[in-house]
Amino acid sequence: MTMVRVRFAPSPTGQPHIGWARTALFNWLFARHFGGTFVLRIEDTDQKRSVEGAAQVFDDAFSWLGFTYDEGPNKDGGFGPYLQSERLANHLAVRDRLLEEGKAYPCFCSPETLDAGRAEDRRLGRPPRYPATCRSIAAEEGRARIAAGEAHVIRLKVPPEGRLVVHDLIRGDVEFDLAVLDDFVLIKADGTPTYNFAAVVDDAQMAISHVLRADEHLSNTPKQLLLYQAMGLPAPAFAHVPMILAPDHSKLSKRHGATPIAEFVAQGFLPEAVVNYLMMLGWNPGGDREFLTLDEAAELFTLERVQKNPAVYDTQKMTWMNAHYLRALSEDELWRRTLPFLSAQKLLAEPVSAELGAYARSALSLVQSRVSTLAEAADAVRFFFEEPREFDPAGVAKHLARPGTAGHLTALAGRLAQTDFSAGALETALTELAAELGVSRAELIHPARLAVSGKTVGPGLFEMLAVLGAKGTVDRLHAAAKMAAP
Ligand code: GLU
Repeated sequence: MTMVRVRFAPSPTGQPHIGWARTALFNWLFARHFGGTFVLRIEDTDQKRSVEGAAQVFDDAFSWLGFTYDEGPNKDGGFGPYLQSERLANHLAVRDRLLEEGKAYPCFCSPETLDAGRAEDRRLGRPPRYPATCRSIAAEEGRARIAAGEAHVIRLKVPPEGRLVVHDLIRGDVEFDLAVLDDFVLIKADGTPTYNFAAVVDDAQMAISHVLRADEHLSNTPKQLLLYQAMGLPAPAFAHVPMILAPDHSKLSKRHGATPIAEFVAQGFLPEAVVNYLMMLGWNPGGDREFLTLDEAAELFTLERVQKNPAVYDTQKMTWMNAHYLRALSEDELWRRTLPFLSAQKLLAEPVSAELGAYARSALSLVQSRVSTLAEAADAVRFFFEEPREFDPAGVAKHLARPGTAGHLTALAGRLAQTDFSAGALETALTELAAELGVSRAELIHPARLAVSGKTVGPGLFEMLAVLGAKGTVDRLHAAAKMAAP
């Protein structure tokens, strides 16, 4: 096999999103599997629509995802530049050669003429197709008109008929009828290259061996193959990865997979979970294995296991996967990753003292199995850092309205104030007090939980109180007694 060199070539017109990350990931996995090179080329020729500082934006996204390119804007591998906007001289040199060899030609048709032609095609019910009007202009005349400054585009001479087969490594052979292609544009009137032209010149010059990209580009592939033929170069292999559909099988929208990576970061998704979920979007490692690290996936990754059908993006599944990874974090790791969320919510200020850090770790461990994201974890431990500001209204109605509750809470506060704050001792104390008061344990447990956390559900009460400590517990029980029925 030739040296594997793959590339991910995003147009940076928006923030990196999930669909994007999946294509990048498949390229990375393929490169790793075959000991090849993964190149990042930023297709920023449309400067007006490109986000500012695209290279940095992508670097940040890769750094969060935990895999990255081997060659790219900030990692020269000898095939640069890696920003397409800086490769214009290369594109124009190839344009000149194609013109010289008579494989391309200037077209001087005005936009109005072209529009009228397309309208006529539509009226006659046939696909709009440039009628190759300027193809017959003699090379000499073409050069003279260009030199005189006449507005023009450059088009490729496409054989008027015939068939072209794309040997796609995922979809198999896909046949295209050349009669539906016209002499497509390589260089636009403003002198900049079209996507198809720039991509092919760059792929060829960057020695790309395999083009793995989104399915939506399949219709570009015959044009690109024609360009390789015109340039007298072998084409790379092509593989079009299945598109990603929204849960309702509609096109992916912002609401689903086109969600920017930054939002997943903000919601407290873990990169290893996101990456694991993404690799399964259209690929599977065989068997019913679901959890893989990047390295494990790279070892197993082949295009034979990439499905042809669209993959369906499922937020619930991804959240479930995230919860799985979150549960597996060590106490330290959970703390390290949740800290930014806690400080963003001003629940604690950095630098954090050793004592507060230990307290936060214990609190987080209590909620770890009950949350799916880091943001939820931060939320779930909020009451360990501040008194509850709101109390679940249904809980208040149910657990604080029973006559006598105020007295029970006061008695509990008094009893716990003299108790050792370990979960076992707290439980014994509450059980004994319930017996003395002649009420069930539940009649103390539910109001107490509400008093300290504001909620009706959460970690085990005694573990919770043991972490919260004597002062917080006793104060909150007294405060709730004032809200409770006498
Ligand atoms: N710039 C194109 C895109 O973002 C790249 C397509 C390709 O991989 O050739 O869709």
